[in-house]
Amino acid sequence: MSSLMNQFKATANAHMRQEMERGNWVCQCEACHAIRSLVGLDKMLAVRPLVRELHQAEQRLAELPAGPERRNYLEQYLRLHDQLADELAK
Ligand SMILES: [Zn+2]
Repeated sequence: MSSLMNQFKATANAHMRQEMERGNWVCQCEACHAIRSLVGLDKMLAVRPLVRELHQAEQRLAELPAGPERRNYLEQYLRLHDQLADELAK
């Protein structure tokens, strides 16, 4: 994958996560446009639960004090990230 595509993906991922939490990914920036047309609607619906879980994990992480529970949560969070990346790369 080209580095431009990777940049698009990173930007679009961030925007998608923000917007999907509100229910819809409609951002019209160049990156989102490119990734959306590449990924397709089916995949968007498939990743939506993952995106929501990620967002919840992020909020939880922000609240948790440092400690074993936070470390566990962080691992889960990173796994979700990997899953999302895998889904988008399929
Ligand atoms: Zn965007």
